[in-house]
Amino acid sequence: MSKTPFVTKEKLEEIVKTYPTPFHIYDEKGIRENAKALKEAFSWNKGFKEYFAVKATPNPYIIDILREVGCGCDCSSMTELMLSEAMGLSGEDIMFSSNETPAEEYAYAYKLGAIINLDDITHIEFLENIVGTLPETMSCRYNPGGVFKISNSIMDNPGDAKYGMTTEQIFDAYRMLKEKGVKHFGIHSFLASNTVTNDYYPTLAKQLFELAVELKEKTGAHISFINLSGGVGVPYKPGQASNDIYAIGEGVRKAYEEVLVPAGMDDVAIYTELGRFMLAPYGHLVTTAIHEKHTHKEYIGCDACAVNLMRPAMYGAYHHITVMGKENEPCDHVYDVVGSLCENNDKFAIDRELPKIDKGDLLVIHDTGAHGFAMGYSYNGKLKSAELLLKENGDVQLIRRAETPKDYFATFDGTDFYSKLKF
Ligand SMILES: *Cc1c(COP(=O)(O)O)cnc(C)c1O
Repeated sequence: MSKTPFVTKEKLEEIVKTYPTPFHIYDEKGIRENAKALKEAFSWNKGFKEYFAVKATPNPYIIDILREVGCGCDCSSMTELMLSEAMGLSGEDIMFSSNETPAEEYAYAYKLGAIINLDDITHIEFLENIVGTLPETMSCRYNPGGVFKISNSIMDNPGDAKYGMTTEQIFDAYRMLKEKGVKHFGIHSFLASNTVTNDYYPTLAKQLFELAVELKEKTGAHISFINLSGGVGVPYKPGQASNDIYAIGEGVRKAYEEVLVPAGMDDVAIYTELGRFMLAPYGHLVTTAIHEKHTHKEYIGCDACAVNLMRPAMYGAYHHITVMGKENEPCDHVYDVVGSLCENNDKFAIDRELPKIDKGDLLVIHDTGAHGFAMGYSYNGKLKSAELLLKENGDVQLIRRAETPKDYFATFDGTDFYSKLKF
C-alpha cells in the first residue's frame, strides 16, 4: 500500500490558520467506510457486534461515528466506563474487558449492566463479594499459554502474557459460574497484536470454537458469544499489504461452519473488540518542522514530540512521514525527525530517507488514529495537542481543544502554589 495523506497540503495550510500544529486529525469518511466494511464482512453472523476498544481513541466524537454504524464500546477502566455512560451506552452495548480490576470499577460496570469479562478465576469470588448476585451473562478471558502460531510462523507469545485463564481454569470457572446462577457465557481471547495477515482471526476463531464445543459438552453451559477481541492490524509501512476484512470474515465463517454448526451451536454471536483496525489509518499527527540541525547526524526538529505519539519511543514503531507538497521529490536526504523532549528516544523517525525538509514544512505522520493521542503523557511538562475531525463534507471540527498550562497544573488547585501561577 502506498501512503497518501487523506488531507491535502492546501487544506492543511487553511486548517493551521485556525488550529496551530501540532494536532491529530481524523478522517470521518475513512472511519465510516471501514466500519461498514467490517460489519458487512461479518453480516453472515446474526449477532455480530464490534465493541470499539475505547482506549485506542477515547474521544466521544469519534466513538459517535462508530456508534452510528452499530458499534458498542469495549472499556477497561473507570473513566472509559464513564465516557460510555455519558454517551448514552449501557447494558450489552458495553463490554468490560479489564485486568487486575479495582473493586469500584467492577461495581460501576455492574451498575451499568455491562458485559463483564473476567480476566481470572479468582475474580469470580472478588466480583461476587462486591456486587452480591452475578449477572446472567458473563464472559471469561482465555489464555492457552505457549506460543501462538499461524502455519509455521510464531505470531506472539501468550505464555508470557499476564492476561486470561488457563484451559483448566476456564472449565472450572464455567462450572463455578453456572452453579452461581450464570445463564449465558462468553469466551474472550487476545493472542496476537497488530497482525497483518488474514489468517489471525480465522485461526484464533477455530481454536475458540473448539474450546466452546468442549465447554458446552463438559459443563453444560450455554455459550452465547465468542469475542475475538483486538489484534487485527494495519500496514504501518508502505509496501506492506493491508488486511482484507472480507477474507477475514469469510475465514471465520468457514471455521464457524466446520466446528460450531455441526455441534448444534449455530446461534453463537461473534464479537470483536478492534481498536487499531478501526482507527489507526484514519488519523494523522500533523507537525511543523521548526529546526534543522547538522551535527553528527542530520536532525529535523518538530513542534510535536513523543508526548503526542509515543509508539516510536515505546516500541520502536515505524510511522510513515509525508513532507507535504514534496510527495514527488526524490528522497535523497537522510534525517532523524525528532521532538523536543529531554529524552533521546524522542524520535519519530531514525535514518529516514526523505525529501529535503525546510523549516516551516508541514509533516504528516501517518497511522496515528489509534493508540496515538491516547497513549500520550505529560513528561517535560509538555501539553497534549488538539484533536480535529475532517468531516465527510470537508469541514473541520475541533473535537478536543489543546491543553493549556492551566490543565497541566490543574491538580494543584486549591494550593498556595496554584494561586501563584501566572496563566
Ligand atoms: C487493546 C485491546 C483491544 C484492542 O486492540 P487493538 O490491537 O487496538 O485492536 C481489544 N481488547 C482488549 C482487551 C484490549 O486490551
